[in-house]
Amino acid sequence: MAGLQPVRGTQDLLPDAHRRHRAVIETARGIAARYGYQEIATPIFEFTEVFARPIGVSSDIVSKEMYTFKDRGEEEITLRPEYTAGIVRAILSNGLTQSLPLKLFASGPMFRYERPQKGRFRQFHQIDVELIGVAQPLGDVEAIALGAEILDALGILKRTVLELNTLGDTASRAAYRAALVSYYDGHKGSLSEDSLRRLEVNPLRILDSKDEGDKRVNAEAPAFEAYLTQEAHDFFAKVRGGLDALGIAYQLNPRLVRGLDYYCHTAFEFVTTDLGAQGTVLGGGRYDGLMGIMGGPETPGIGWAAGIERLALLIDEPAGPQRPIVIVPLGEAGEAAGLTIAQSLRRAGFSVDLGYSGNLSRRMKRADKLNARAAIILGDNELARQVATLRDFDSGEQVEVPLSELEARLAPFR
Ligand code: ATP
Ligand code: MG
Repeated sequence: MAGLQPVRGTQDLLPDAHRRHRAVIETARGIAARYGYQEIATPIFEFTEVFARPIGVSSDIVSKEMYTFKDRGEEEITLRPEYTAGIVRAILSNGLTQSLPLKLFASGPMFRYERPQKGRFRQFHQIDVELIGVAQPLGDVEAIALGAEILDALGILKRTVLELNTLGDTASRAAYRAALVSYYDGHKGSLSEDSLRRLEVNPLRILDSKDEGDKRVNAEAPAFEAYLTQEAHDFFAKVRGGLDALGIAYQLNPRLVRGLDYYCHTAFEFVTTDLGAQGTVLGGGRYDGLMGIMGGPETPGIGWAAGIERLALLIDEPAGPQRPIVIVPLGEAGEAAGLTIAQSLRRAGFSVDLGYSGNLSRRMKRADKLNARAAIILGDNELARQVATLRDFDSGEQVEVPLSELEARLAPFR
């Protein structure tokens, strides 16, 4: 029977769940458009190197979460675990670095081999925005403001805290890295296996560790602040000034380093306490080095991604589908007429459904289940007189209506 189960960590989006997903995507898409973002789609799988190199071997994603396989042509393929690298690849493949700045919006499935739990799946969905070719802190402010606006429109912003940090520029990070390495070297005995490995490849990652022992070591670790260059310090001050000007509240979190190798300067996450351990609903940052790492011209960028499943858990119930008008034929003539009446009403913009079989009461039950607004009952006698019975389910009223007037009489139910 294993074949009848969904794969662990995947789930079906049945209509109610799908409606919540769609509400999240449509809200985000509409607001992103107002900020000047255009929608794109990239393939769900890419050559493995598209993700492996920029995301970095020290990241959880590359070290243990990617769905990687050889296809039938012996190509190394990976199902996308995040958007940014694929979008940057698309920009380079299509020569779009000629038309900067680019403001791109995308939404779709992601794949990560993780331990499934509430708000954490192996196939999940993200909305994503990327602002490419803007080096100014204004870009960071606008990208964060867009995230806040979307969360607000979804009714979630007030349930989140915006956590903010800076990862500085290359010089800041080199100085801080050296300070961290010498600090952690003195605490090797207390670090987890994972963090000992991170110490070799990317010691900043240790700051982000969820291991209790690591957290105790981190509590005393040197802070980045002291190692920021003047430029990096000024950049961050401008980002904060912009957020202040827009009235966007944030909390500084010096432990926020985010999972990927390519981040610099601004890192941020909107976090809620309403989802247990899976509290981050939206996270992103600046990635000025990424385009270069991927073989393109040095180009600044900033972006973020939000988990649709997590957002969908937090929003209010979206409006249900439009209440249909249901056709209820009572005989053979009614069946035949019902088919064409349904079709012409649908073309006129009504939502129309059919009872497919059974007697009057069975078909009325189906109308009830569909939460129908009204029923058109087509008896053979009535049809002979070119009329139908219209039942308004809300008022309980039932009237005879000439077929030629049906559309006009139904107008309030459109
Ligand atoms: P986490 O710390 O929860 O693992 P992350 O840092 O790996 O998150 P990102 O790579 O920044 O997450 O992805 C952006 C957003 O995508 C997250 O904030 C979260 O809302 C969502 N997300 C990430 N991984 C999953 C997953 N396995 N299932 C569902 N949503 C996810
Ligand atoms: Mg993760």
